[in-house]
Amino acid sequence: MTSVREPVDVVVAGGGIGGLSTAYALARSGRSVSVLERSPEFTEVGAGLQMAPNATRILKEWGLLDEVLQAGVVPRRLMFKDALDGSELTRLELDDAFVQRYGAPYVVIHRSDLLTILVRACERAGVELVPDTDVKDVVTDTDAAIVQSARGEYRGRIAVAADGLHSALRTRLSDDEPICSGYVAYRGTVPVADLGGEIGEEALHEVVVYLGPGCHLVQYPLRRGEIFNTVAVFKSPAYERGEQDWGGPDELDTVFAGACPQVRTGLGSLWRDRHWPMYDRLPIPSWIDGRLILTGDAAHPMLQYLAQGACQAIEDAHCLADELRREADLTDALKRYEAERTARTARVQTTARFWGDIWHVDGVARIMRNELFRERDQHSYKYMDWLYGEARPRGRPAT
Ligand SMILES: Cc1cc2nc3c(=O)[nH]c(=O)nc-3n(C[C@H](O)[C@H](O)[C@H](O)COP(=O)(O)OP(=O)(O)OC[C@H]3O[C@@H](n4cnc5c(N)ncnc54)[C@H](O)[C@@H]3O)c2cc1C
Repeated sequence: MTSVREPVDVVVAGGGIGGLSTAYALARSGRSVSVLERSPEFTEVGAGLQMAPNATRILKEWGLLDEVLQAGVVPRRLMFKDALDGSELTRLELDDAFVQRYGAPYVVIHRSDLLTILVRACERAGVELVPDTDVKDVVTDTDAAIVQSARGEYRGRIAVAADGLHSALRTRLSDDEPICSGYVAYRGTVPVADLGGEIGEEALHEVVVYLGPGCHLVQYPLRRGEIFNTVAVFKSPAYERGEQDWGGPDELDTVFAGACPQVRTGLGSLWRDRHWPMYDRLPIPSWIDGRLILTGDAAHPMLQYLAQGACQAIEDAHCLADELRREADLTDALKRYEAERTARTARVQTTARFWGDIWHVDGVARIMRNELFRERDQHSYKYMDWLYGEARPRGRPAT
């Protein structure tokens, strides 16, 4: 049986990091918000998440950074190594100078810990969290958005599509499909106590990225250093051959066979029963359909090489709340949000692809890449400022 409920200011479709961040940002500025989540619980699949200061600065402003720091780890540095010979290519110290420059630390956190923090924050702020609710469509008219689900209709002044890569609501704006990169990710976590002497003490304080031909491996600690997170990503030869069944564990072992011992040891920490094919989409110019707007992966799914998908979703949330607070006119606020966020996230999406290409080169290109990385001034922030620095002018007066 369907029913019609009391209208709220904002109905958010999707309760992932993007949806909950949006809900919290809007609720803390006084709006009534409902979040409709398809799953029976608000949970996250996967393991670690890197959060750069463009996101942690917002969490700090929202009063959530302390909880995030208690649950996560602030790594000492971000380290790039060659996956074939294990040699160091370059590093970025995530020290006081870094924190001072960007106004917040780089943090690594378990996804489920971040989601728990966001769920609690939403509850405290009075957000209505509605699990088990599969959103089908949205009808928008001049003064409302009506979100349709199998459990009934939810009416808001606006609706936010935060339903991820395979967003049902994005279809109202674009007929594009997710683009498969042919790469696949394996993830895994292991209690540090179970690793014995497998990894050195420093590894418990770093994010290390091993770059290899058509593959890479990322490792970092989680939960105050109690568990160790590993992600291995590779281009599937079977996908290249056009086979239906691709990216299996046999390919994982074959592709990484020539890697250095540290990387091959790292493969032992991965879950082998699950893997994640990597998709993105091309940027689209419009995220507004009447009173429906896109956010997070529904708006700008990206390859994960810059570790920015969730960070950008948090930026979306911050920007939307800010524009709705500043602008008296709702339509203007949504347009400002769209203009600002489409430009910023298009750059991140396209740079993520390009950055992945640089990571995965082989032969002469690998030699040149390594040379350039080694020559990089390790104290320079030249390549990070656009991403980690202030994305938007603060303190713009309300109009
Ligand atoms: C291997 C890998 C590593 C990554 N590492 C990082 C990283 O280090 N840092 C970073 O910032 N990002 C990273 N990302 C990207 C990041 O995970 C995503 O960008 C982010 O989770 C997107 O959040 P979202 O809420 O927009 O979408 P999702 O997390 O996909 O959430 C969408 C939610 O909507 C729900 N939903 C879907 N359809 C419906 C429907 N019809 N009705 C109701 N609910 C629905 C889903 O159940 C889900 O809960 C990584 C991604 C991958 C694949």
